[in-house]
Amino acid sequence: MKNKLSYSVFYTLTILSISCSPEVNEQGSQNVKPASATTRPEEAFPNQRGALQTTKLNGQTVIYQLFGDQAVFESDILLSERDLRQDDDLQVEGTGRTKASSRWPNKIVYYSISPSLPNQSRVLDAIAHWEANTPIRFVQRTTQRGYVLFQTGSGCSANVGYVGSVQYVNLASACTTGNTIHEIGHTIGLWHEHSRADRDTYVDINTGNIITGYESDFQTYVQRGTDGFDSPGGLDFGSVMMYGSYDFSKNGLPTITKKDGSTFVSQRNGLSETDIQTVLSMYP
Ligand SMILES: [Zn+2]
Repeated sequence: MKNKLSYSVFYTLTILSISCSPEVNEQGSQNVKPASATTRPEEAFPNQRGALQTTKLNGQTVIYQLFGDQAVFESDILLSERDLRQDDDLQVEGTGRTKASSRWPNKIVYYSISPSLPNQSRVLDAIAHWEANTPIRFVQRTTQRGYVLFQTGSGCSANVGYVGSVQYVNLASACTTGNTIHEIGHTIGLWHEHSRADRDTYVDINTGNIITGYESDFQTYVQRGTDGFDSPGGLDFGSVMMYGSYDFSKNGLPTITKKDGSTFVSQRNGLSETDIQTVLSMYP
């Protein structure tokens, strides 16, 4: 079944998007009740898990989840059909995409905000933060083919990097300006900081404490079968793209600890100095 899926995921997605079977969705997703001490980073579909799927990228197995026809990994990263195509490798750095075609041309992000999205100031504030700290510029879309649409979602989620057609930042009412800064980080091409290849030098992943079904959210890009390199300076606990110690805990015990066993908190106030340097290296 897995092999079959790995060779036909693109077609499966296409079929699902045309004739989506509710039975498949009902059977494939499950409600997940976390421990009360659990903290949660951005999620596309809070408190749900989609049907686990695998595909092959660069000859390695990538685990993701299907919610209807939307493929998601690491909880808030939306995968486009292009991402999942066998002939279009998903390439990443420690925290960002390396592939030139996954970066916004001329450092310009064309965007549109859905008129029905509540509290649009969080989007404008997040954009202002990005423009104040990086060379990325945001321009309202007119006729551009590739652009990001900020719209209402069931949670907070985004595509990673430039897609070339409409792509999304989905924001539920609970998503803050800080969450929006994080999601724009994905839009620009950043992955989660804890998925760096060298993260085991800095942290332990306590798999036994992770809510069942969320284990793949804690993979490195090497474990995901994608290539790249880590930004210099080591793992940045202050990154706006970093998970916290208790994220997705099933028992109130930490899912990520520092090597000395201590815990830490994640922040969603804004880009760290390392985040900014990583973006500068991607968009020189
Ligand atoms: Zn994220």
